Amino acid sequence: MIHQLQQNIQTIQTTVQEACQASHRSYDEIHTICVSKTVPAEWIHMTYQLGQRHFAENRPNIFESKVIALKESCPEIQWHFIGNLQRRQVKNIINQIDFLHSLDRLSLAQEIQKRANHPILCFVQVNVSGEESKSGFSLDELDQAIEELISLDKIQLYGLMTMAPIDATEDELLTIFGQTCQILNDLQNKYPHAQIGNHLSMGMSRDFPQAIQQGADFIRVGTAFFQGIPMN
Ligand SMILES: *Cc1c(COP(=O)(O)O)cnc(C)c1O
Repeated sequence: MIHQLQQNIQTIQTTVQEACQASHRSYDEIHTICVSKTVPAEWIHMTYQLGQRHFAENRPNIFESKVIALKESCPEIQWHFIGNLQRRQVKNIINQIDFLHSLDRLSLAQEIQKRANHPILCFVQVNVSGEESKSGFSLDELDQAIEELISLDKIQLYGLMTMAPIDATEDELLTIFGQTCQILNDLQNKYPHAQIGNHLSMGMSRDFPQAIQQGADFIRVGTAFFQGIPMN
């Protein structure tokens, strides 16, 4: 199993390197987040021992139990939260999150403002593709939302996060990721005092090369880490 995991990590790294070369970017800019939501804490520990530091979860309860389970053995772990977060769940987990990728509505931001005891690095989730099933601010809502988010000192705007449709073509992927990059630039120009971070969380196992090509610096990769490893 460790052999397969090592091989998967190697494959991901090579693909990241190739995407960087193709777009004249530096490999060091790219943070590969291991989306560990489907695997037990022991696998996270094993992945950590192979050098991985960024991990992401999407369920508050499971996140909490993994944080506790791994606190001692993986002290340098950086936790990303990427899932839907209900307001009532915020107080339990917000202060253990290093990066929140799913800031998708103002009521959530207001709850974070109430419960966080330090500024939380947040990617604002944007529904660039316009799919109804996707969460995130629509492009129409975004400007007004940013103005309100700026006023909350517990929300540190770190960048934007988006997801492409599962059936997007190569061209559609490039368009959606490229648009997201452009939207971030526009926001930074429009709100120069907001100190909006220059970071883009985009790309999953099937589309991270296209995301890197369009400027992603945080890619969220699950399946590609753990495929081929039997669950038992
Ligand atoms: C599960 C998940 C991922 C990882 O998806 P894979 O296709 O397994 O790489 C990335 N981002 C979000 C928001 C997810 O829920």
